Amino acid sequence: MISQYRGIAPKGQLELLKILGGKLKGRSILNINSTKAGGGVAELLHRIMPIMAGMGMKGRWEVIEGDSHFFDITKKIHNALQGNPEKFTKEMWDYHYEINRQNAGNLDLDAEFVFIHDPQPVSLIRFKKNGHWIWRCHIDMSAPQPDVAARIMDYASQYEASIFSVAKFAMLLPIPEFIVLPSIDPLSDKNRELTPDEIGEVARKFDIPPDRPMVLQVSRFDRFKDPIGVIKAYRMVKKYNDCILVLAGSPAKDDPEGEEVLDEVQNFAEGDPDIRILLLPPFSDTDINALQRLATIVLQKSLKEGFGLTVSEAMWKGKPVIGGAVGGIPHQIVHGVNGFLVYSEEGAAFRIRQYLNNSDMLGRMGEAAREHVRNNFLITRQVGDYLSICVGVENAGKAVIEVG
Ligand code: UDP
Repeated sequence: MISQYRGIAPKGQLELLKILGGKLKGRSILNINSTKAGGGVAELLHRIMPIMAGMGMKGRWEVIEGDSHFFDITKKIHNALQGNPEKFTKEMWDYHYEINRQNAGNLDLDAEFVFIHDPQPVSLIRFKKNGHWIWRCHIDMSAPQPDVAARIMDYASQYEASIFSVAKFAMLLPIPEFIVLPSIDPLSDKNRELTPDEIGEVARKFDIPPDRPMVLQVSRFDRFKDPIGVIKAYRMVKKYNDCILVLAGSPAKDDPEGEEVLDEVQNFAEGDPDIRILLLPPFSDTDINALQRLATIVLQKSLKEGFGLTVSEAMWKGKPVIGGAVGGIPHQIVHGVNGFLVYSEEGAAFRIRQYLNNSDMLGRMGEAAREHVRNNFLITRQVGDYLSICVGVENAGKAVIEVG
């Protein structure tokens, strides 16, 4: 399995994986999150699990169940942690805990290493029986609502360790805090090389004209992804340059606001045949891959962003991304070298025009983008980080840890 990445991922990453694999072979690892479809966490787990299995680990992935009231609450928690003001009552926190309690009764929580992802299942820690429990936070915690952060911190503090995507999201917890930037799998359907025929088929399916520049954003319909801001930037560009805009998104089971935001976007785009809003079913990986390859320019104009896998996905395909300067995006985009960071709709419009008017720069920065992802954001690096943390928590307190 790991050998498939030879010639794609940096050699040192593969060497480290071999060593860590030897150390952790046969050990059980359990991941728990709140959805198998939609969003970056599910995307990553679908890829990480088989790699760990290929290395001889016993991996399981469980998903907590909840009703719409629970997911309304967890979406509010997500929004508040990303800085939107939200109101909470005692009943809401009690309900959050109660659903976790029920899930703890239904799930098999027995494993040597347990990774709990994000705030939805965070209170499962209260039902821990054995193993090393690690809380993995994927969201942008740069300016959280303090009372909500305090609640989540209370639970998070009961874990043995925590993992954040970016140093500035770390919450000053009284437990070890590790920083692990997410990654993409170059061998997945989302990112593998496609033949011209495969790409052409997707272009025909979505009626993408071959002779006009295409600006693309792939995102859940979420206000933090700023789809309205993307349309505004596109409209500014459209006064001077020809292009079409494609907004591609799909629903996530744990995101109840998606439909409302989609309605807003559709209304805002109405009357412009050059704006294509594509509602893709879950697991439309080859379609998204092809769209990212068909795009002239890829945007990720987020206002808050844990990491933004879509940025690395597009960069891997040689597209220099124009991204909001938030969360994990500045870790991927080196401004002016392999993409541009923007702070406003006007900024996004300016950079789109700059690219549309300068195809040499587009190509040059696109190449730099792909190499930056190769060296920093391939899944082999992330699996190595996770396994190193497993070895680290298991040997906590030791001055020397032998992994060879
Ligand atoms: N994605 C998808 N279909 C969509 C929209 C997004 O498969 O319609 C994927 C996207 O390609 C990426 C992930 O979902 O792999 C989104 O991860 P990201 O970190 O960009 O954002 P999140 O949704 O986790 O906030």
